[in-house]
Amino acid sequence: MALATRGFLRQIGAAALGLAIGSSLVVADAARAADGTPAKQLFGKVQLPSNAAAAPIGFYAKGCMAGAVAIPTDGPTWQAMRLSRNRRWGNPAMISLLEQFSQDAVRLGWGSGILIGDISQPRGGPMLTGHASHQIGLDADIWFQPKPAQPLSAEAREDMPFVSMLDKSKFLTVNPKRWTGTHANLVMQAASYPQVERVFVNPAIKKKLCETWTGDRGLLGKVRPVYGHDEHFHIRMHCPPGAANCKAQAAVTAGDGCDKSLAWWFSKEPWAKPVKKPDTKPVKPRFVMLSDLPRACAAVLAAPAASARTATFGAAAYSAAPVTQGSDAAIQQVINAQADQAQRDVLPAGNIPVPKARPAVQ
Ligand SMILES: [Zn+2]
Repeated sequence: MALATRGFLRQIGAAALGLAIGSSLVVADAARAADGTPAKQLFGKVQLPSNAAAAPIGFYAKGCMAGAVAIPTDGPTWQAMRLSRNRRWGNPAMISLLEQFSQDAVRLGWGSGILIGDISQPRGGPMLTGHASHQIGLDADIWFQPKPAQPLSAEAREDMPFVSMLDKSKFLTVNPKRWTGTHANLVMQAASYPQVERVFVNPAIKKKLCETWTGDRGLLGKVRPVYGHDEHFHIRMHCPPGAANCKAQAAVTAGDGCDKSLAWWFSKEPWAKPVKKPDTKPVKPRFVMLSDLPRACAAVLAAPAASARTATFGAAAYSAAPVTQGSDAAIQQVINAQADQAQRDVLPAGNIPVPKARPAVQ
């Protein structure tokens, strides 16, 4: 090779290297900036879903969602609550399930349908308040109060108080004045769908079902005791078929779950205050960052938005307040830079982080 050509190639190589270093610096800067912004702030700001095929990405408590659809605020057999939270978004399979469940609830005698609490944010992800899960559009909260015949006003949907199914004057005890056989039928109906993976209820409610349920005891195993969940219960779906980036949860163990695992909740251990060692410094909380989530979640955040109207499921009226695609320019820049990086990296199959075991999945 002639000397001149080698020199020329060296120059091109140096230029290419310079470019590569330059762009990787931009990405590194963006990553540093993103590391200062908790993922819940990035996802909590986005008002609309991505205009993409529906896909749950990651795990229920560590992930995000593409192509979400919203359940309409009002349906023949449901009403969505707490509309200001903008958490009516889910995988289309979840929205279909809720519609089916609301009809089955009426058939069971549950008033004129169900009151739907939080599903997920428009692009899933961690939330500024509340849940650790509900991040991939496959979790939904249902109130332990039926939908009244008359539609609730927007104000009532914000302010209507929750009603606990427990007698709070006693330790972990269902209030017999509030809990009925219809409540039991409703929870077990939710557990009966093959696409439902788990149903979360308060340990007192699980105990009550263990003592009284005369139907399929195998289904009772899907009903899992957790903290809270005395005013609402929580439906979790399996990863839908073909959802390659959805990380499944370990299957529930066989049996009705009316065993030692339930008895533990009635011991002192779950309710004991954590013992603080006098010489330990307070630990600064570490927020979940965008970089902690599956790489594809950066692309989900940066993707163009679907319109609220087209993303509302079914033909029912779209009646939510108009929403805007509001996001700080600086944050948007960070998101875009991370998305660029994510597009350059090929996401290897099975490279989704496995979350640590979590005792209370809410
Ligand atoms: Zn929930």
